[in-house]
Amino acid sequence: MTKKLTDKDIPAFAEIKNYINGKFHNPIHNNWIDNYNPSNGEIYGQIPNSSKEDVENAYKAAKTAFPSWSQTTLEERSRILIKISELLEANLQRFAEAESKDNGKPIALAKAIDIPRAASNFRFFGNAITQFASESHESIGQNAINYTLRQPIGVVGCISPWNLPLYLFTWKIAPAIAAGNCVVAKPSEVTPMTAYLLGEICNEAGLPKGVLNIVHGLGGTTGQAIVEHKNIKAISFTGGTTTGAHIARVAAPMFKKLSLELGGKNPNIIFADCDYEDMLDTTVRSSFANQGQICLCGSRIFVEASIYEKFKADFITKVKALKVGHPSEADTNIGALVSKPHLEKVKAYIAIAKEENGTVLCGGNEVTVKGFEKGYYLEPTVIEVPHDECRVNQEEVFGPVVTIMPFNTEDDVLLMANKVKYGLSATLWTNNLKRTMRISNELQAGIVWVNTWMMRDLRTPFGGVKASGVGREGGFEALRFFTEAKNVCIKY
Ligand code: NAD
Repeated sequence: MTKKLTDKDIPAFAEIKNYINGKFHNPIHNNWIDNYNPSNGEIYGQIPNSSKEDVENAYKAAKTAFPSWSQTTLEERSRILIKISELLEANLQRFAEAESKDNGKPIALAKAIDIPRAASNFRFFGNAITQFASESHESIGQNAINYTLRQPIGVVGCISPWNLPLYLFTWKIAPAIAAGNCVVAKPSEVTPMTAYLLGEICNEAGLPKGVLNIVHGLGGTTGQAIVEHKNIKAISFTGGTTTGAHIARVAAPMFKKLSLELGGKNPNIIFADCDYEDMLDTTVRSSFANQGQICLCGSRIFVEASIYEKFKADFITKVKALKVGHPSEADTNIGALVSKPHLEKVKAYIAIAKEENGTVLCGGNEVTVKGFEKGYYLEPTVIEVPHDECRVNQEEVFGPVVTIMPFNTEDDVLLMANKVKYGLSATLWTNNLKRTMRISNELQAGIVWVNTWMMRDLRTPFGGVKASGVGREGGFEALRFFTEAKNVCIKY
């Protein structure tokens, strides 16, 4: 059991508590986890390592809130969700600072993307629920009419990862509560801060107590207790593929509804006929945004042979110009990796790539940032691989590391693009329409971007195939996941 620290031990100590029934609580067993600031490697706070009993309390609060919340009018639910969105926007700076400190991401990114997107999630689903209609089917000649009810499930569990902490946490919570469910949610133990702050915002917005309950803790204890809880009827999970498979095994005997958004190893396919400058700038972003720690990053770059050498030279020039620095500095492009163990994992993949005859074209080393020597900084790294089957090309690294290699034909690149266990997203750069259609049809991925990357319309389905997951989030897909369809057939 980790000792409870206070602000006598650490200046500006950040104490995070569970948010249950609208109030903040210490964990029942007074068991705590240290929370590190990746930019300087120091402990700056603690979070509860919540037990089964804490999860049970969160469940009870959610269960008690459910009858009333599920009967709350759509207009009222919508009003509260939109209020949460407005309060997040009003608190942008505070949330962005917390996210950057917790995760190591540049504050500019947190301000421009993460927190605004969390606000959009609430606004979007606050509006979407008022447009969520159910079908009816008239059985002609049988004097019967069928209509479908979309009923909230009850108490649902939402479990999210550390890479886009509030963005992904709210991407689950917002549709769950919009659809009339009550929630037991767990953010990543590595990045708990903004989820904690969200509790205050929910109270201020007038979200009735117990509708959202946030328990902090380790995956194997707190997360496991949520998944194992026999009355938490659905689990929406985003995280690693191994964890997803484990959750599926635990949940299957209880026939829980599952949405699993898992890992990726996304191809970025570049044809010579693309808009070169646009492709180059976007490829730098799709490779290294958020230190490459986005499930959608294009970690395998395939370049048509005729422009391969030119691309290689231009890409490396741009990558070398990226500034690795403290996340709070406005001109930092690459902040800190999220944790020491994660930094070690990414470094190990660079070593494996070298052993497998990969050539490190740039990067590959840790960076010492003056004044923050114990932070987890790594150079953006480009590795030229001898073939597409080496481990660094097949396994998810989830850091500022991309591989590049040339291809000759459309068939060759399609084969390589699809020859991984994952199938989350893919990016294609070409101005040839027929090729666009052919390749988009054939790519094994849930999302294909053509001549762009990570452009998101929240109405569209989001999710992966193969080991990248099961189910779709986004738009009405998310509202369908968080409701049970019941058909009523009336004979007249
Ligand atoms: P992770 O699987 O280690 O953890 C994710 C969450 O699951 C955390 O909250 C963790 O505490 C919890 N957890 C761990 N073990 C659990 C268990 N036994 N029962 C219940 N919960 C448990 O993943 P991570 O390292 O936090 O995140 C990185 C991974 O997430 C990468 O693989 C990345 O590709 C993936 N990811 C996927 C998407 C997507 O939309 N497909 C988005 C972001 C991240």
